[in-house]
Amino acid sequence: MNAKTPIIIAGPCSAENREQVLTTCEELASLGITICRAGAWKPRTKPGNFEGHGEKALAWLKEVKERTGNLIATEVANASQTELAIKNGLYVLWIGARTTGNPFSVQEIADYLSTLSKEDKERLLVLIKNPISPDVELWAGAYERIKGSGIDNIGIIHRGFTPTGPSRTRNTPNWSVAIEMHRRYPKALFICDPSHLTGDKSLIQEYSQTAINVGFDGLMIECHCNPESALSDKNQQITPKELKDLLENLKLCYESDCKDLDILRSEIDSIDTQILDLLSIRMGISKRIAEVKKKARLPIMQPERCAEVIGSRAIHGMRIGLDKDFVTSLYGLIHDESVNTQIRN
Ligand code: PEP
Ligand code: MN
Repeated sequence: MNAKTPIIIAGPCSAENREQVLTTCEELASLGITICRAGAWKPRTKPGNFEGHGEKALAWLKEVKERTGNLIATEVANASQTELAIKNGLYVLWIGARTTGNPFSVQEIADYLSTLSKEDKERLLVLIKNPISPDVELWAGAYERIKGSGIDNIGIIHRGFTPTGPSRTRNTPNWSVAIEMHRRYPKALFICDPSHLTGDKSLIQEYSQTAINVGFDGLMIECHCNPESALSDKNQQITPKELKDLLENLKLCYESDCKDLDILRSEIDSIDTQILDLLSIRMGISKRIAEVKKKARLPIMQPERCAEVIGSRAIHGMRIGLDKDFVTSLYGLIHDESVNTQIRN
């Protein structure tokens, strides 16, 4: 069995000056990292912060590419940035979280990409970060716009969602949204960005491990030669040496080819068939209830009964080790379908 080696994209949040980019990326290259990252244009939530050196920074990134032979990734938020990045030989581009949420901007980028030559389209890898809200349709829409421009190499980056309340991490993981994107687009490179997800260098190891356990293909990690002096995202950047340690401590997953898993999966398959058979019998009884109610001129919807069904199942579920919210949602769905069956009857 082979360990699934993660793809690592590492480098500073922002390209701050020529020396910082070269020092960080050359050190990363010496550790075997083959894809570097650095933002030339920085989308800051509020004005008055460092917003990147733009085109000037692209020249530094081009130099890193020539000196290390590495692929260099940078963020683009509109057509002119995309054009400039490609003109500087950068063929790994990412669309940031604030841009993914804006269909006009994503379409503008897609329209520009569609004008590229076949060779350029084939060389490009476009990575799409999740939008700041946990809206899988918005993320999927961005994916489809880029795909529609004729780019086949697309990746999705999970960097978490703006929290709505107190949160341990800068952004909330909401892994299920990323898993749903991966389910819809299984061929897309599936990358996790634990740096923006946590916002905290002390949590990056832990969340990188979770990402590997979930089955991500790779990690995008912010690294800076001197994080203390970083002009953006200072608290979440680690040094190349810390990245080396982090990678050495990661417990990798294996390519799936495992007999025990096959046996357990066949048990799950058989249980699912039983669940569905029972649900079908339950819906049949619902129809009979509908007939009884019709005859007795009773209303279909009886809120006390609905609350009693959902509440008692949630309590029973908890007693046997199931999550209360899960059972409540499940019975909400089952009860809705029961009511619909009775309305259709
Ligand atoms: C970044 O990668 O530097 C960045 C700005 O990320 P995000 O779009 O995830 O906030
Ligand atoms: Mn950053």
